[in-house]
Amino acid sequence: MSQLALYHPVAPSIHTAMEQTAQRTILAREAVAAMKRYLFTDQLNQELDGNEEAKDAIATVLCDFAQVAWNTDRDLNSAIQAVTWALALNISVEKRKQVWVYEKQMADLYKQHVGIDICHFCAAAPHDRKSSIFQPLYQEYERSARQVKFKKMKVEVPRCERCTGFHSKEEGRVGLVFIGVWAAFLLAGYFMKAMIVMGIIGGAAAWWISKKAGKRVLKDDIVRPANNEVLALHPSIAPFMEEGWVLEEPTA
Ligand SMILES: [Zn+2]
Repeated sequence: MSQLALYHPVAPSIHTAMEQTAQRTILAREAVAAMKRYLFTDQLNQELDGNEEAKDAIATVLCDFAQVAWNTDRDLNSAIQAVTWALALNISVEKRKQVWVYEKQMADLYKQHVGIDICHFCAAAPHDRKSSIFQPLYQEYERSARQVKFKKMKVEVPRCERCTGFHSKEEGRVGLVFIGVWAAFLLAGYFMKAMIVMGIIGGAAAWWISKKAGKRVLKDDIVRPANNEVLALHPSIAPFMEEGWVLEEPTA
C-alpha cells in the first residue's frame, strides 16, 4: 500500500476504492464514478513515460479492483471498465498478457450472466425478482382489410432493484417535462384567448420535448433505458422476437 504511493498517487486511491468496495462501504459503481474524476489513462501514460513498472503496478491494482467488483457486487460493468483502463495504459508485454486473461474472463462472465441472473440494463447487480417488468408480446396470425387478429402474452423481464428506481425516475422526469411545457402553452393560450389551439400545439410540443429530455438524461448513466430497442435484446425476449413476436400491438 505505502509502496504503491511511490508509483503514482492514483495507485493508492484505486487500492482504497477496492478495499472499500470489498468491505461494502461503497458500491463498485460508485468507486468507478469516483475514479472517472481522477484516472485519465492518456495523462498517466504521459506522466509515467518510461516508467513501465509504475504503469504495470496501476494495471495490477485495476485488475484487483475488477475482481472485487465482480466478487462483491456482481458488477461486471465496473469490472470491465477497470480492465479497459488497465489495457489503455502503456504496460509491459507480460503485464498485458495477464490483463488479457482478465479481459477474456470478464467477457465470458458477461455472456454467462448478463440477462440470465445479472441485470440486462446495467450489468452491475444481480436480479431482484420483485423488480421484474412484465412485457406484453404480440403475434399476428390473421389479417384482413379491416382487422388484424393476434395472440398476446406477457413475458417476465428481470431487472435489478436500482434499475427499477432509475427507470421510474426517468419516467417521472419525462412526465414532469411534459406537464411543464404543456402548462406554459396553455397559459400563453389563455392570454391570447386561444386556449384550445394552444392546448393542442402545446401537447404536441410537450410530447416531443419530453421525449428528447428523457433520452438526454439516460445518456449520462450506465443504465440502459427499458425501451423496445433494449428490451428486444434481452435473453428472455430475444428468442420470441426470432419466432415473429413483436413488442407493439399490431394495428390494422
Ligand atoms: Zn440494473
